[in-house]
Amino acid sequence: MTEVLPADAAGIARAAALLRAGALVAFGTETVYGLGADATDARAVAAVFAAKDRPRFNPLICHYPDAETVWADVVPTETARRLAETFWPGPLTLVLPKRAGSRVADLTGAGLDTLAVRVPAPEVARALLRAVGRPVAAPSANPSGRVSPTTAAHVLDGLGGRIAAVLDSGPCKVGVESTVLDLSGGQPALLRPGGVPLEAIEAAIGPVATGRPAVLRGPGMLAAHYAPHLPVRLAAEHVGPDEALLAFGEPLPGAGAVFQLSARGDVTEAAANLFAGLRALDASGCARIAAMTVPEQGLGRAINDRLARAAAGRG
Ligand code: AMP
Ligand code: MG
Repeated sequence: MTEVLPADAAGIARAAALLRAGALVAFGTETVYGLGADATDARAVAAVFAAKDRPRFNPLICHYPDAETVWADVVPTETARRLAETFWPGPLTLVLPKRAGSRVADLTGAGLDTLAVRVPAPEVARALLRAVGRPVAAPSANPSGRVSPTTAAHVLDGLGGRIAAVLDSGPCKVGVESTVLDLSGGQPALLRPGGVPLEAIEAAIGPVATGRPAVLRGPGMLAAHYAPHLPVRLAAEHVGPDEALLAFGEPLPGAGAVFQLSARGDVTEAAANLFAGLRALDASGCARIAAMTVPEQGLGRAINDRLARAAAGRG
């Protein structure tokens, strides 16, 4: 059963407690309803991908109550500060380098070294984020491939029974997604048009790149995704001493290094551990990574998508 919580002090407190405990709670923003999870908890973030039935890991936007809390997780540029002053709270997402000490889980950013961050406008949403006291990762609260929800009823329609609660703050005012602007490279680049018009952004900071090179930096285009430096071999059934084993279930014997994705063969647990595992094995000193087979069920599909692209050298 998915709880429907009123947007009052008690409802907000309940929603925050659920999020802090690792549960999934949808909440209204000015753009669409987001499916929230504690961004520092890889298992909660994996559960977001599972609830949405997403076939691959794409990076999620982290939500904060104010700019000060944002800068704890990313390194702001002058341009970022100016945009924050002009458009936050509001429907503008900034992509910035992740801070080294950030507690945000690797899975939240799909293993990238950048993070997408924003401060949503509605007071209810920011009260919730203040009460959680941690960044909240939130993609749109709909099953993968369906339209984004702009009411609590839409959320229940798509995800009812699959999430702990929805905080009902009424219909969303903007109804389209946030504008996503990449500030991690040289020139600011538009990755996704949205609630804040490009003209308004350019009036504040000058020219923004909108062409193909900008799109290529978008996560749909693979190039920017974390790829292990070591070659990856899939569906390993034997493993040698020069190989680092990415294990799922009972590990194959004889590897030079082992990282266990999930000893009990749980695909959601494995997803939560995937990026940390690839990084650990990359640093193992072995010649290559040998990945055991993960079943094509639930998040297993997204795990295999990521591993197949790593094996093919496609990021
Ligand atoms: P959604 O989760 O549906 O709101 O979509 C999130 C959007 O933010 C997608 O367009 C992502 O491509 C984009 N995004 C999130 N994190 C990053 C990042 N680190 N680099 C580039 N784009 C990002
Ligand atoms: Mg979406």
